[in-house]
Amino acid sequence: MHQKTLKIGITGGIGSGKTTVCKIFETLGIPIYYADDRAKHLMTADETLITGIQNLFGMAAYAPDGSLNRPYIAQIAFNDPSKLKALNALVHPAVRYDAKMWHESQLNKPYTLQEAALLFENGSYSLFDKIIVVSAPQEVRLQRVLQRDKIDSKAVLARMAQQLPEMDKLNKADFVVYNDGKTLLVPQVMAIHQKLTF
Ligand code: ATP
Repeated sequence: MHQKTLKIGITGGIGSGKTTVCKIFETLGIPIYYADDRAKHLMTADETLITGIQNLFGMAAYAPDGSLNRPYIAQIAFNDPSKLKALNALVHPAVRYDAKMWHESQLNKPYTLQEAALLFENGSYSLFDKIIVVSAPQEVRLQRVLQRDKIDSKAVLARMAQQLPEMDKLNKADFVVYNDGKTLLVPQVMAIHQKLTF
């Protein structure tokens, strides 16, 4: 009989390279759950969640075609922390349940990976067998995000300030992938894969 499929979480600060590292695991046949992408999907697909969001933000939260009015919600949530908290309290359980169902549907895999920016911050790290932290110096992360997104450095630094400090993440990690732009990624991923497979 195949052993239990391990549940591995992968996290790291904004711009650390979580998605980049996940793509390497994907080439090894490991199923990946991208929590942030999935949350966006559920916000327009999960009826209970949609109703909850409409109750919280009003009917203007959705356009007539059913798409989410992101700028509208962001504007309110940004100015009212209690709304942001309430939104998270709706979205997190929905994602948690969806992720659980997804993990259980992955048969005959040694492990699955779930990518999430805020694994430690929202307490969901306790759901995982092991945690991988992708680490890169703040300056490197900042430059990457500035290059990738149309965003100013003040906005990136504000998001960084909401995340757990790098050192705290490293202390909680079972595995660390150093993505500083100098250390090769593939050998690091292979070493972790080997440990999780044998
Ligand atoms: P976020 O939390 O913002 O979603 P992330 O941790 O998933 O970010 P990625 O999207 O993987 O990070 O990487 C951020 C940007 O940096 C991307 O444009 C990616 O292509 C680039 N990048 C990541 N790692 C490297 C690397 N080792 N060398 C060069 N560019 C890299």
